[in-house]
This record gives sequence, C-alpha cells and structure tokens, in this order.
Amino acid sequence: MIIQLEKGISVDQLNKLKEKLANIQYKTTEVKTQYGDYVICVGKNEFDIRSIGTLGGIKDIHQVSDAYKLVSKKWKVEDTQVDLGEGLKIGTGEFALMAGPCSIESEEQIKSTIDHLVKNGVRVMRGGVYKPRSSPYSFRGLGMDGLKLWYSLAKEAGIKIITEVMMTEQIEQMFDYVDIFQVGARNSQNFNLLDALGEVDKPVMLKRGMSGTVEELLQSAEYIFSHGNERIMLCERGIRTYEKAYRNTMDINAIAILKEKSHLPVIADPSHGIGVRRFVPKVALASVMAGADGVIFEVHHTPEKAFSDGQQTLNYRESTALIKNLKNAFRFREELVQ
Ligand code: PEP
Ligand code: MN
Repeated sequence: MIIQLEKGISVDQLNKLKEKLANIQYKTTEVKTQYGDYVICVGKNEFDIRSIGTLGGIKDIHQVSDAYKLVSKKWKVEDTQVDLGEGLKIGTGEFALMAGPCSIESEEQIKSTIDHLVKNGVRVMRGGVYKPRSSPYSFRGLGMDGLKLWYSLAKEAGIKIITEVMMTEQIEQMFDYVDIFQVGARNSQNFNLLDALGEVDKPVMLKRGMSGTVEELLQSAEYIFSHGNERIMLCERGIRTYEKAYRNTMDINAIAILKEKSHLPVIADPSHGIGVRRFVPKVALASVMAGADGVIFEVHHTPEKAFSDGQQTLNYRESTALIKNLKNAFRFREELVQ
C-alpha cells in the first residue's frame, strides 16, 4: 500500500497515521522525494481502508501488492516524464535519443562526436569514463580528467551528458559534470549504489542486469525512488542466454512489459542488446515498435579503432541513417491504431 501525504501534514496527524498502521501490524517506510511524501506499508492483515483514508493529512491511498510499489503503474497511471532541463524531457511526447562512444577516449573524439550529434539533432551524448571491463588489462576509462574535458566541450555545444557511475564514492565528484547517471548492468543490484543515487537530485538511467528479471529491475528502481529520487529511466540492454550467435539477447518483450508495469520511461540499448554492429539498427527499430521511449546507442568516428565495444558501434553514416529511421518509426508508432 502507498499512502501519499499532503505536503503540510502535521506531526500529530502523521503520528496518528503511524499508530493506526502499527495497530494493524503494517511495517511502514517513510519516503520523501523531490516531488512528494509517501508512507509505504507492507502487511497482511485485513482492514477497512476508509479508517485510514479519513485521517487528516492524507492525499491518496493506493493498494499495490507487488514487490515494487512506487515505480508501479498501479499507483501512478500516467507516464512519468524525466525533465533534464533546457526544454529536454524524456518519456511521453518526443522520442529520446542518446548516442556516443562506449568510452570517452580523447579531445578529438569528443569534439567529433559532438559535431555529429549536433548535426543530427541529438541532445544527449553517452560515453564511459569509468568502464566496467571483464579483463583488468583492458582500457578502463579516462576517469575524472576525461569527464571534465568532456563536460566543458559538451556544455559549449548544449549537449547533455550520460555516463556510468560505478561506485557510491564517485557520485559526489561526478555530480557537477553529469546530466544523467547511468547504472550499468553489472551494478543493477548494487543496492548501496542505488540507495546513494536515490539521495541525489539528478536523473538516473538504470540498466537491467545481465541475468536480471523484469521484476528485479523494477525492485532496483524502487531502491532509487524510495530513497528520494523519482527521476528514473529503465534500460533494457539485453540479457545473457544460451544463444551464442550474438553477444546478448535483446529482450524486446521486456520493453512492452515494463511499459505496462511501470510509469517510468523505458530506454532501449540495442548496441549492448545484440552486440553486433550490422544488426543494431534493426533491433533499435524493433524496440521502438515495442514501446521504448528512447534509444541509446554507440557511435564512433572510426569504430574499428574504438578502445571498447567497436564491434557493436556504428559509424557516422550508419548513425545518421538510424536517427532518421528512429524518428520516422516513432511517428509511425504514435499513429498506430490501438
Ligand atoms: C556501456 O553502456 O558501455 C556498458 C558498459 O553497458 P552495460 O552496463 O549495459 O554492459
Ligand atoms: Mn559499451
């Protein structure tokens, strides 16, 4: 159950509510976000909902029995829009496009990517400065120096930055240089990191774990929301299956299901989703048809020379074609008869 509180609820009213909930043996968690105050209640005993609804200081009550609650559509029926500022909003309305290299590599590469994005009307650039790599001997990112350089160039061009944060300790140092924190697949259930991202007022894109279920992804998002941050996007980036013909299995089904289960925007990552460059555009388009609110993909001026994930990275010609096709696909989807 989610109890939404009035902003001006008094201490006395809150205590009365807590007393009632304690009487019916419900475990309560108080949640305060940028946008609202809530009490999340978990319990089994039957009770008359009116006995709580009629108490003072309560805005609304919703019965949500799922393991995840605040990210559920059972509570918030209308889709959430994540506001990035400067007129840029993700979820509902316009289709969100985010593109850039797997790793930030050099000033030349940043400038060239920004130029490509600006030419194609893409306003969010992706890129890793802290890279989770299977081998400790692989390139692991330029760290804060790379992020600061990237930030100064991106800001000049009016481009927003999405980049992965791997540890709680990095949040503070990265905060001023980031527009969206990305939680990578390997950290999808790093609950300490999720808690900490719940405490900052900055959008978060949460990726699905390599072997994470839809329900686990939603529960991870619930960690962020319940710690105070409502500005969350979910990301389907493929799961690991028995199939060896490609890197990961892009779970298109999950996109449709997430859109039904949650009010949060869903972003598709076809680059990691299939992991093979020539198929990325097709999977990206399929994701739009399944209901994605946006696509994030890897692009590089010379994919063959990319420091990481070159095999799944588009070149500029392919990227330009994909962006055009994605915009058309989105328009087409919006016109489909329901
Ligand atoms: C990435 O976006 O480059 C990345 C490492 O993604 P994932 O966490 O999905 O593997
Ligand atoms: Mn990558």
